[in-house]
Amino acid sequence: MSTSGADRVDAALRRSRRAGLRNTAARRAILDELARAVGDQGHLTATRLHHALLARGLTVELSTVHRVLAQLVELGIAHTVPVGRTVTFGLADDAHHHAVCAGCGDIRQLPAAAVAASVAAARAAGIEADPSGHPTGVVVYGRCRRCRTTTH
Ligand SMILES: [Zn+2]
Ligand SMILES: [Zn+2]
Repeated sequence: MSTSGADRVDAALRRSRRAGLRNTAARRAILDELARAVGDQGHLTATRLHHALLARGLTVELSTVHRVLAQLVELGIAHTVPVGRTVTFGLADDAHHHAVCAGCGDIRQLPAAAVAASVAAARAAGIEADPSGHPTGVVVYGRCRRCRTTTH
């Protein structure tokens, strides 16, 4: 990965500032957690983000986390992928699609090029996929290595 987490957070903060939003401690921390998650779970739920902020010693309400996330999605800084009955949030700064583990909900980013053929086929069929990897992008469902090897 060419861009470091800190660079991604700074770029996202500049974008939200240009959009007239105050860069509060909560916004900075949320972006930081999203940037950290990229190579790990890829996306986080609002609840997990809230727990992470509390663990940092930030006193924020879950409703604040939801409000900040909604603003980031509105600006195109973050995007959502539904997993089961919950919604996960991830950084949308580089165009990507998603592979989702249906077992545990972990998400890996797929580079746009990896699903170019699927997107082209969808376009030929009259469906335009959003290249930024919005929910209208390509989501591949499967099971991660951990879930495949875990016997319940
Ligand atoms: Zn994503
Ligand atoms: Zn899994």
